[in-house]
Amino acid sequence: MEEQLKIYSDDVRRDEPMRKHTTFRVGGPADFFVSVKDREALVGVTTFLKENGIPYFLLGNGSNLLVSDAGYRGVILQLTGDLAEIAFDGECVRAGAGVQLMRLAAQAAERGLSGLEFASGIPGTVGGAIVMNAGAYGGEMVQVVESADIFFLGEGIVTVANPDLHFGYRHSVLKEKEGVVLSVALRLQFGEKETIIDKIADLKEQRREKQPLEYASAGSTFKRPEGAFAGKLISDAGLKGCAIGDACVSEKHAGFIVNKGNASADEIYRLIREVRDKVQQTSGYLLEPEVIMLGEFE
Ligand SMILES: Cc1cc2nc3c(=O)[nH]c(=O)nc-3n(C[C@H](O)[C@H](O)[C@H](O)COP(=O)(O)OP(=O)(O)OC[C@H]3O[C@@H](n4cnc5c(N)ncnc54)[C@H](O)[C@@H]3O)c2cc1C
Repeated sequence: MEEQLKIYSDDVRRDEPMRKHTTFRVGGPADFFVSVKDREALVGVTTFLKENGIPYFLLGNGSNLLVSDAGYRGVILQLTGDLAEIAFDGECVRAGAGVQLMRLAAQAAERGLSGLEFASGIPGTVGGAIVMNAGAYGGEMVQVVESADIFFLGEGIVTVANPDLHFGYRHSVLKEKEGVVLSVALRLQFGEKETIIDKIADLKEQRREKQPLEYASAGSTFKRPEGAFAGKLISDAGLKGCAIGDACVSEKHAGFIVNKGNASADEIYRLIREVRDKVQQTSGYLLEPEVIMLGEFE
């Protein structure tokens, strides 16, 4: 298998610790970890893996991901090279799925392009942001995306226009149907460069004040339930500071579970379940994790 993977990539690693690739800083080894540099290789490798029934997982920046301590029995695909390029053309921007959202937002701001200020503090890739319809402070990907090029097995590469991406709260068509995001076309607006940069600085300060950025985490652990805020429900259930090992409900923002140092994925997973159960007992709300679990848990 390693030899076949090397047809598509010159960077194929065995038993790669996933803690190096997740913002939670946890996760055991992936059988194979493959960096893919262009569309042809990505289409080729996913087709090969699918046809041979080998499990694979598209990794963005691992910022919404909990990988089990036993790791992942399959192939992790990471997008680099041409798949992480940005091209500006007036108010239109084309970005590869592997581009870091923060880098994209910063480059847009430098050019006086407004629209991505909300994304300047989200530590994910463009691909992950499309899948999740990432959003913050009133902005969401749905507001800036024109279309995305997605590889669907059996269909080839399809340019999917915004309405057909089925964006919703932390939802997109990629949650309904398996596909690989290759790139995205965005439309931004020219504005005052200074105003854009000030807005980014202001949002950064708000995050620094409210979020436990000093610890490893995957951001908000749970989705916002209809009519309530997960953080408030967790706080009202008296769970701030509640810990299992080094996995802890943040004192600063109860919506975040943080890794205070050497938490295991199992500890984080058990804490997620404990929080979910206690919140359900105290409020009746059943919280649904926003964090994606990869590998075996219990
Ligand atoms: C400190 C902190 C703050 C955060 N703040 C926010 C916030 O304000 N708003 C917000 O929405 N989120 C926030 N997050 C969560 C996270 O950054 C987002 O969900 C982000 O969009 C995930 O992107 P990623 O590239 O890291 O994806 P990953 O976590 O690597 O993957 C997420 C999902 O996307 C899939 N995926 C990734 N790339 C592709 C691709 N090319 N094709 C197909 N599928 C793909 C993966 O398979 C997986 O299912 C925060 C996280 C942290 C750690």
